[in-house]
Formats: sequence, structure tokens, C-alpha cells
Amino acid sequence: MSSAAQPEDDFKAKLDTGLWWKLFQRALHLKRFLIPLATAALLLAICDAAFAHVTRWTIDAVIAGGSGTNLMPYISGYIALTLVFCVCVWVFIDCAGAISNHLSHDIRSASFDRLQALEFGFYDTRPVGWLITRLTSDCDRLARVIAWGFLDIVWGLAYLTMIAVSLLIMNWRLGLIVISVVPPLALISKFFQRRILLSAREIRKYNSQITASFNESIQGIRTTRTLVREAENLREFQGLSTQMFIAAVTNAKQSAIYYPIVMTIGSLGAGLALWRGGLLTSAGEMSVGTLVAFINFAGQFFFPINQLANKLTEMQGAQAAGERVMGLLATEPAIQDSPAVRQRVEAFAERQRQTPGNGSPAPADFAPDGGPARVSEIEFRHVAFRYSTGPQVLHDFSLKVRAGETIALVGPSGGGKSTLVSLVCRFYEPTEGQVLIDGIEYRERPLGWLQSQLGIVLQTPHLFKGTVRENIRYGRLNATDAEIEEAARRVNAHEFITALDQGYESPVGEAGNRLSTGQRQLVSFARALLANPQIFVMDEATSSIDTETEQLIQRGLETIFAGRISFVIAHRLSTIRGATRILVISKGRIEEAGTHEELLKRRGHYYDLYTSQFRAERESSVLASGT
Ligand code: ADP
Repeated sequence: MSSAAQPEDDFKAKLDTGLWWKLFQRALHLKRFLIPLATAALLLAICDAAFAHVTRWTIDAVIAGGSGTNLMPYISGYIALTLVFCVCVWVFIDCAGAISNHLSHDIRSASFDRLQALEFGFYDTRPVGWLITRLTSDCDRLARVIAWGFLDIVWGLAYLTMIAVSLLIMNWRLGLIVISVVPPLALISKFFQRRILLSAREIRKYNSQITASFNESIQGIRTTRTLVREAENLREFQGLSTQMFIAAVTNAKQSAIYYPIVMTIGSLGAGLALWRGGLLTSAGEMSVGTLVAFINFAGQFFFPINQLANKLTEMQGAQAAGERVMGLLATEPAIQDSPAVRQRVEAFAERQRQTPGNGSPAPADFAPDGGPARVSEIEFRHVAFRYSTGPQVLHDFSLKVRAGETIALVGPSGGGKSTLVSLVCRFYEPTEGQVLIDGIEYRERPLGWLQSQLGIVLQTPHLFKGTVRENIRYGRLNATDAEIEEAARRVNAHEFITALDQGYESPVGEAGNRLSTGQRQLVSFARALLANPQIFVMDEATSSIDTETEQLIQRGLETIFAGRISFVIAHRLSTIRGATRILVISKGRIEEAGTHEELLKRRGHYYDLYTSQFRAERESSVLASGT
């Protein structure tokens, strides 16, 4: 059953305080909220305890003073406490909410930043859903648990202390007797809270499975009917429903047992206070007010203990999410600058700072490591590659490409063309052999510099929601409108753009869906040209493009290829006739290499591919003209 259900995390039996401390440290910079929150929690605990004391003093005053007692100080005290209480509630809701939101934002941004820095290989082994969950629900959940947990733990501990101190001050012997209910209360709360949380999770799990089942049954109603699966579906559905019923009953039973037990223990404390305190009161050793306060406090223990047990259980439940997020944040990208490269970058920056305007060559001639900024040659030297899973994809691959050359990659699907291009971009690194840029192993050059020299146009180029102009500007954010239009003109996109309803200001729709594939390619060419990359990589569109757009694309490409090192994964062979070299890649090896003419003459693989595609095109055009 395809389930929309999000599997719940394992419940961690042991609270990892180190992990929670590390997570909490991420909130320490939010002192402007943490301090008022902690203060509000402490004041609340003081107010909670003070209410009982005001009652005690009022009773004692009335007993001592009779009907003429001036109650104003007590009434004022009560009102003042109520006001402080209200302000504290307002402050804590405000601050806990703010901490939760800031923290969620911070953790999400840090995770996102890390995800962007991680190499592509990282993504091969993690499903997209897994990553999205890390960025959304894990971050939110942790932020909530930390903010509200902090509040409840501070309040709970403070209130417990206030109660214990009040009891001990009023009468330490009787206080100790009443406090003796705390350990059993804590143990029982811990025991039940954990079970209640687990059964509540069970209910949620079955509930989402039932939703998924509903969804599937409704969407697949036609298939169900034709396969006569109604009875089977009903049985599956009833099974789930019964399990949810059992979980719900278990949950209700656990609550039904837990609350009376803790209430009874609480009453036991109050009973002890009444019994022993009553004797003291009748002997005149304790005031009536104090006795009432004792009974009152004895019944209050349950609240902070319940809250503390509840928060600790919640933390155990969210611990797996914490481990995953902290694990993600601690993952070092496998592809990044080596310490030696970083050192060179820093040293070069330092040299630049110290010698401003000293007649040295313009920094544009240098890459950030002080090496040449120009890329004149890329060489694959005996490169072999395998992904972290699966067999070897490239075998002993050697190739030299100079600036101005266009390498077309053709061959059967799965042959290794995209892998080759990914290696050029250093999205992956060779497992054996080397890729050299002007004779230097590319791992010895800064990654950021290499990737900023790349222009990439994918099969279905990704456009962002926004206008055509904004999409082209992504190539170089500081480009002027004139430069944007010039780039569009040079790749032959200007004409179709101006023919759109709002010209350059036309929205492209979600992921560019208001434009055709060909138009999207033209826009992405303009974007690539604006970025002025030294290395251009293109995965040609496979979907059919009308002949007119194809010609526009063809001419646009010629502009882009000029003076650059270009790699084109070609699907329509007609577009690569002009390539400097065509490589037929199959099973990770170069089967054939040469120009279009040379390869046709050889009558090998390329010849077969070309003639079969040519024949297919001719047949479809004959068919089209015949209709
Ligand atoms: P082509 O571009 O020629 O169609 P690819 O370079 O995409 O070929 O794929 C070459 C081989 O590598 C295929 O067998 C493919 O299954 C495998 N492959 C591609 N990408 C990955 C990946 N991310 N993880 C594991 N194997 C992959």
C-alpha cells in the first residue's frame, strides 16, 4: 500500500543529554528571548507558590483578628500576584514562540547550507523525501521541543523547589513526610508518560495509514472495480481500522489508570499533611493557615512532576530527529578544497590586501588561489569512475580538449556520457586517474572557482518562477537590462521573447511551464552566455523541437561555443555536425572518435546511429507531409 504516512522515529530509551546540550547551544545566541523566558518561568513558579502563602496568611489573619480584620493587604497581594501571573504568561508565550521560530529558521538554514555544500554523491544515497523531512518537520519539531521544553523544565524545577522549600520552612518534619510522595510520583509519571506517548504514536500511525488507504481506494476506484478487489480492500481497511481502535482504547486506558493513581498519591500526601498537621494544629503548634497551605502544596506536586516527565519523554521521542539533524550538520562535504588549496587562497587574498594598486596584473587574470584564471585545456588522464553503488562506469578514459573546441558525446543510454560531464564539473571526482586543467590536477585548484567557470544547460533547463528577464539575470546578478537583451539577441532568443505578451517581463510560470522546451533552452542559453563561462556543458533536449526553434538553437549554440571548451551530450545528431570531435561513448569507453565526416566515412557505430536517425526523421517528415 503506497502510504503517505511518515514513519515515526524509534523511541530512544535513554536521554542523550550531550546531544540536547549541543542542540540547546544553538539557542544560546537568542539570549534576548531566553532570559525573559527563564525569568517568566521563575516568576510563574514563585506566583504559584505565593498564592498558597497568601491564602495561608489570610486565614491566619482572619482567625486572629475576627470579623474586623483588614483584608485589604491580602486582596491587594492577590491582585498583584494575578497581574504578575498574567504578564508572565504573555511573556512566556511570546518568547517561547519567538525562540521556536528563530531556532527552526536557524537550524533549517544551517541544514540547507550544508545540503548545498555536500557533493552529489551524498544525494545518490538519500531519497529526496528523507532530505525534505530533515529540512521541514525535523527542524520544526526540534525547535518546538527545545523552546517549550526549556520553559517547562525551568518552571517545573523552580516550582518543585518552591513547594519543597515552602514545606520545609513551614515545618521541616512534616515537610519531609509530605515530600516523600515525590519519588513514587516521579517514577509512575515517567512510566505512564512513555506508554501514553507510544500509544498516541500508534494512533497517529494507523490514522495516516487509513488516510492513505482512503486516498488509494478513491483514486484507484476504476482499477479496483475491474480487478474485483473490493472485498480485499475492505478487509485491509478493516484491519487498519481495528488496529487503530485497539491503539485508541489502550491510550484511553493508560490515561484512565495514570491520572487516578497520581491523584491518589497526591491525596496521600495531602492526607499525611492533614493527619500529622491536624494533630499539630489541635495542639496549637501549627496555625490553621499553615495546615491549609500544607494540604494545598501536597496536592500541587503532581503538576510540575507531570510536566517534567512529559517534556523528558517528548525529548526522548524527538531524539532521533535531533541525531539526524546534528549528523547532517556534522557531515563534511567529500568534495571540497583541500587544506593546501585553502591555504593558497588565503595567502593570495592576503597578498592582494597588502599590495593594493602596486601595478601587479589585474586580479581578473588570477583565480582566487593565485593560479591562472584562464582555462585553455582540460585533460582526462586514464580516468576511471564508479558511483558509491554499482559497477565501474568509466574505464581508462583519456581525452584532451582545448579552448574553442566542442566535444559532442553520443552513444547508447547508460554509456557514461552524463557521468563524464559530471566529472568535468567536479560534481564527482575520478576514482582513479586525473582530470587536469592546464596541466594541473583539478583537485589542486579551488572548487568554487572551477564551478563559477561553468555554464550548464540541461535537457529540460530549470527556470525559476519569475519573469524572463529575472531568469536570464540569474547568469550574472549585476547585469544591466541592456546586457540581458544583448545576450538574448546573441542566442536568438530576443525575437520570441519580445513576441510574448509582456516581453521580457512575462512570467515564465512554475519551473518555466509557460514556455516550450525550445524556448526554455533559448532562455537558458542567454543565461549561460551572460555568465560568460569558460567551460560550457549542455545536455541537449531529447523532446521534439520544431524545426524553426531548432535552427535558432543551432545558431545560438554557435555563439556560445565560440572560444570556450564545450561538452554537448547530443541526442539529435544533426545539431553536432560542426563539433570539433564527436565521441561515441559506450560502456564507459570511447568506441569511436573523429569529426562528423570522418566518422561517417568509417561506417562504424556513428554511421549506424546517424543513418538510422536520419531515416527515422525522413520517414516521419514523409508521413507528416502525407497527412
Ligand atoms: P548516459 O548519460 O550515457 O545515459 P550515465 O552517465 O547517466 O549514462 O550512466 C552511466 C551508468 O552509471 C549507468 O549504468 C547508470 O545506471 C549509472 N549511474 C548514473 N548515475 C548514477 C548514480 N547517481 N548512482 C549510481 N549509478 C549511477
